[in-house]
Amino acid sequence: MVRLMAHAICIALLCSLLAIITSAQTAAAEPASAQPVAAATASSPPFDVNSAVEFYLAKMPPAERARSNSYFEGGYWLQLWDSLSTVLVMSFLLKFGWSRRMRDLAERITRLRPLQTALYWLQFILTLSVVTFPLGVYEGYFREHKYGLLNQSFGPWMRDQVIALVVSVVLGGILIMLLFGIVRRLGKNWWVWGSVASILFLMFVSTIAPVYIFPLFNKFTKLQDARIKDPILSMARANGIPATDVYEFDASRQSNRVSANVSGFGSTQRISLNDNLLNRCTLPEIETTMGHEMGHYVLNHATKGVFMYGVVVVLGFAFLNWFINLALARWGESWGIRGITDVAVLPLATIGLSIYFLLMTPVSNTITRTMEFEADMYGLNAARQPDGEANVDLLLGEYRKMEPSPLEEFFFFDHPSGRTRITAAMRWKAEHPETASAEELARPVFTSH
Ligand SMILES: [Zn+2]
Repeated sequence: MVRLMAHAICIALLCSLLAIITSAQTAAAEPASAQPVAAATASSPPFDVNSAVEFYLAKMPPAERARSNSYFEGGYWLQLWDSLSTVLVMSFLLKFGWSRRMRDLAERITRLRPLQTALYWLQFILTLSVVTFPLGVYEGYFREHKYGLLNQSFGPWMRDQVIALVVSVVLGGILIMLLFGIVRRLGKNWWVWGSVASILFLMFVSTIAPVYIFPLFNKFTKLQDARIKDPILSMARANGIPATDVYEFDASRQSNRVSANVSGFGSTQRISLNDNLLNRCTLPEIETTMGHEMGHYVLNHATKGVFMYGVVVVLGFAFLNWFINLALARWGESWGIRGITDVAVLPLATIGLSIYFLLMTPVSNTITRTMEFEADMYGLNAARQPDGEANVDLLLGEYRKMEPSPLEEFFFFDHPSGRTRITAAMRWKAEHPETASAEELARPVFTSH
């Protein structure tokens, strides 16, 4: 369920991109060239996109690339093992009557149904966390260390896991009480309003996340350094984004990964940069990353994400309704489950959702990846730093395979691959030779690591 919550939080993060109201439809017009057309064409040096791409890709040392490939490809299998282990644990909970007993215990403690649901949820998520702990430790701790992607020793890592569990207990508890309330009132049509309630709940979580959840894991401060803050805020103003502050957070507590995001909703909306980006990247690289994040904002990706993922969620609940009724008709009695309104049905629902979301991986990845590519295009036009962009794409290659096959990219990538992104940057550069940066081109991105 921690993994399920992680999935839910991923969706919530997408929702959190929701714009600060001004849904600016910017027609990104290129600035008019001061030079006559003929002169401009004559002065542009010959530039070959393919060899420029190969030049950047070759900056990544072979050992680094092998490590990244192995890490990312292993992740494909982990998605499968995670789903299979969840299905296995849930089957045990049903088959050996644990689910029924957890419900009976909750009913003995209180007569209030919503409270019974909450007590069941507490037992459910604690049991699941204990049983899947070995896989979780391997995946989140030992494997991350093996690939040099985690900075934490076991104590602080474990502290983060416990906090995540407490957040799951509280937020998951609220959602489960809400959903069972709907099931009990609406009966057959529960899945329509259940999916609407889930989407609204995720939007609520994304609203409170920057203020109440993220600070549990990292320290957020307002970015002070004027050399970085001023150009970012200037770009924000130029793109119609009413931001007055940029936040930075100490992601280096957990890892060296370079990253930035737009989070929150309404008044909690903010752009945050992680300290790895600030410490490991040049100003052009930071600017192009910020241009990308502003793209998410201006292109209204949060709203579009809510609608597109909304379809995935509604279909998921329809599938779930069908799946639960089918399984209960066959095995409900032997599992001691009284019907779809019985909270003891939760392991069965988890099996259904695990299967559904595993099968939907290419769909949800493609929704996200498409928007990420749009944000890349926006970032190139806003920041005008194609060489900086290519260097950042290389740094992201530390934890994402640089050159997958097209099919692999379609199925498993929630962002475009490094090769796709660098190709886009170099294609843009070919049309804007005046933006070329010799310093960025020469910068050995990987020696600083
Ligand atoms: Zn993005």
